Amino acid sequence: MMSEPDYPPALALVNVARRYKEGEGAIEVLRDASFAIEPGQSVALVAPSGTGKSTLLHLAGLLEHPDEGEVYIDGEATSGLPDRDRTRLRRLHVGFVYQFHHLLPELTALENVMMPQMIRGLSKKDAAARGGDLLGYLGLGKRLNHRPSELSGGEQQRVAIARALANAPRLVLADEPTGNLDPKTSDHVFGALTELVHATGVAALIATHNLELAARMDRRVTLRDGQVVELD
Ligand code: ADP
Repeated sequence: MMSEPDYPPALALVNVARRYKEGEGAIEVLRDASFAIEPGQSVALVAPSGTGKSTLLHLAGLLEHPDEGEVYIDGEATSGLPDRDRTRLRRLHVGFVYQFHHLLPELTALENVMMPQMIRGLSKKDAAARGGDLLGYLGLGKRLNHRPSELSGGEQQRVAIARALANAPRLVLADEPTGNLDPKTSDHVFGALTELVHATGVAALIATHNLELAARMDRRVTLRDGQVVELD
């Protein structure tokens, strides 16, 4: 028999329910949903719109509370924590990549990646060193001092990925990270993201409609009747 790994999953949902009020009643977006991602694992979330992808990402990122069940980040139960501690866990352990990069336009690529590290208390020197390493790894070593408006869409999105990983989170959550890029660029950005997942041991949950990209991830899951179901 295989022995159990001695580290906790980066993310675990256990018997999670999430409902929204709708008129007199409620719709149950997640019902008794359980799901875990191990460190270094990339998981594609492929499901039609309206089935609860954003809800799942928001629960995993501690931006919403489950109505039932528990969300664990790096083994820590989160539902009973005060908001201050949820914010701390989110800052320490979760990185977000959105469809639109949301970079700060007045800052350079490097400064955008330094920002979350400095908020966390790193010195400017250390933040610049790590930011430079990450951007270099993503092929942007010659673009450190460019502002977002001076970068291509794919380059901007790679800066956003570097920013999401800047504080070495346990979990990266992405919502259609290549949704507004052309196929070639999106392929490149996606490759960079999955390479970093494997290189750094971060876990990734990536919502995408792109089946070709999903096929390159370690696992594929969908949402069916409020549950997270493995595909393949
Ligand atoms: P997806 O990201 O897959 O498109 P969502 O998680 O955004 O799906 O939404 C799942 C369902 O829950 C949809 O029917 C949506 O209308 C509903 N929903 C999402 N957020 C809210 C909310 N804040 N209040 C009420 N209903 C919501």
